[in-house]
Amino acid sequence: LIEVQDITRVFHVGGEEVRALRGVSFGISRGEWVAIIGQSGSGKSTLMNVLGCLDTPSSGRYTLNGKDVSRMSDDELAVIRNEEIGFIFQTFQLLPRETALANVELPLVYRGIPARERKARATAALEKVQLAHRMHHRPNELSGGQRQRVAIARALVAEPSMLLADEPTGNLDSATGEEIVRLFAELHQAGNTLVLVTHEPKLAARCPRAIRLSDGEVVADGPGREVALGIGQSVMAAGGT
Ligand code: ATP
Ligand code: MG
Repeated sequence: LIEVQDITRVFHVGGEEVRALRGVSFGISRGEWVAIIGQSGSGKSTLMNVLGCLDTPSSGRYTLNGKDVSRMSDDELAVIRNEEIGFIFQTFQLLPRETALANVELPLVYRGIPARERKARATAALEKVQLAHRMHHRPNELSGGQRQRVAIARALVAEPSMLLADEPTGNLDSATGEEIVRLFAELHQAGNTLVLVTHEPKLAARCPRAIRLSDGEVVADGPGREVALGIGQSVMAAGGT
């Protein structure tokens, strides 16, 4: 599904070079559930932005569903984003004045899907996250965990190739975060491809696979438990390939 080959991302800030990604390579197959972990500033969000086609690498190649997206224009990227990717954010990013249903319908509005079908599909997505009974509530009438469920339903509604989540439990208490993790586990069981950034080793340990970044490089890639706890073969020497 995903193939990243030796990608770098260099930012130029005030005459200085910041090398946020320094030669990252891996593949992700359809149906995988992968955690991206690493210290603050290690390049996790930069990598997610590239995977989500919000940004392009400075060098290297990124192939998504057989298409080389690393050299696409912004307009072409917007199309890929719309069709292939469902985003989930730490801060939910819901429209505050709209109901849960309207928020979930939004990606379908962008795709020009007629109102009747939109409503049916959004309702089905809300059922998947067990929130059909709250579909007429606005975000401020929902709990944090419920807001994140709405955001997950919105990410799912257009049936993207993969779901990308940057710290999806970062704004939730641990019990609510646990519910969200259980929901991810269900979505994984149902065949969805999930890539999520987390700084919680406990969450990463639950993922079948985790990739650890350090200073813009992949330093471990293997079973979530091993990578999260820093044990086993999957931990490579820093700077190794
Ligand atoms: P955190 O866990 O704190 O979210 P992160 O692993 O997501 O950290 P990134 O946001 O990917 O880290 O940042 C990696 C490096 O790239 C940092 O040194 C950061 O300062 C730099 N960086 C990220 N985005 C930009 C940007 N738009 N312009 C300049 N530098 C950037
Ligand atoms: Mg980040």
